[in-house]
Amino acid sequence: MNTNNKKIQLKGLTLPELEEYFVSIGEPKFRGRQVFNWMYNHLAADFSEMGNISKELRQKLSANCELQTLNLVTTQNSPSTGTKKYLFATHDERKIESVVIPEKERNTLCISTQVGCPLDCKFCATGLMGYKRNLSVGEVVDQYLLTAKEHGKKNITNIVYMGMGEPFLNYETTLKSVEIFTHELTKGLSRLRITISTAGIAPRIKDLADCGVRVKLAFSLHSGFEDIRSMIMPINKKYSLKENLEALKYYAKKTKTRITFEYTMLKDINDRNEDIKALTKICSSIPSKINIIPFNSIKHMAPEGISSKLEPTSLTEIHQFADKLRNNNITVMIRETQGDDIAAACGQLAVKIN
Ligand code: SAH
Repeated sequence: MNTNNKKIQLKGLTLPELEEYFVSIGEPKFRGRQVFNWMYNHLAADFSEMGNISKELRQKLSANCELQTLNLVTTQNSPSTGTKKYLFATHDERKIESVVIPEKERNTLCISTQVGCPLDCKFCATGLMGYKRNLSVGEVVDQYLLTAKEHGKKNITNIVYMGMGEPFLNYETTLKSVEIFTHELTKGLSRLRITISTAGIAPRIKDLADCGVRVKLAFSLHSGFEDIRSMIMPINKKYSLKENLEALKYYAKKTKTRITFEYTMLKDINDRNEDIKALTKICSSIPSKINIIPFNSIKHMAPEGISSKLEPTSLTEIHQFADKLRNNNITVMIRETQGDDIAAACGQLAVKIN
């Protein structure tokens, strides 16, 4: 029983945790399965919807537990692409964003793992807004449940951990949310449709390889040179490119999967001929492909210092760069920019932190 008046948040609990909770309040273990199914499969927002649970127990749960972690504040639609940005408020009045990106045969949900981000990558708006805290499992999961409710669960086909924050600095939470999204009872997504993107927390890359959870891994490379990477991504001073590449090699070997290298093209910084050489060397030693992202403007954040000087490589030059890599037998994709008209494209998510 809950004695201190603070309600227990059930949203975000994994199946074993829910089962343990029900046993602890003197209920049979299978209630955990039932509530799991209601929350994550049927997207129930209230205990009253849980038809196979007695009225008495539902009342008891309402009195002691909570079911929702986020409140929808606003949504914004991109008229040109159909991309939709969601602004959510947390219980402590923090704001986070998620984005649903419609593509030809899929709809991808881009979710956040932190309020802001501590990494301070010079090209990213989220970095410029600062960092407040990690999200809870419930807050990560609710971004899916609340957007799935609006779009229809079947219409969210992919999840990418590419919103605000660094998933590997909120590692346990990220893994628990994957466990919930991919659980057979959730009838949700296959692990192959989930991508975790990291700026390079090398020890966690190895941990992910070792823990047996199989998802797709994307690595924000952005430069094949230590000094340039350290300049635009200060986290590189703590976990060097070398250390990360070793971890990625280990990951690719252990999981027998290909790494996706994300590469945001910055004029005169990472679009030179020597960058092609460096990328070719890296990609030849690790099973991988490159995903080139045109640099999305962060001018809405009124950046200072290096951030204010960054310019995009032109689309023509991006295509030439990609072709040169392809000539070296590297698989290259160029990501279409989606949602920059509503500041919902890669690296544009940012909310004023109080
Ligand atoms: N912290 C994680 C996930 C968030 S960013 C990571 O760094 O991977 C998701 C992707 O968008 C990353 O590859 C990131 O480098 C890229 N990105 C950030 N800012 C961008 C911008 N202004 N334009 C284009 N891509 C950007």
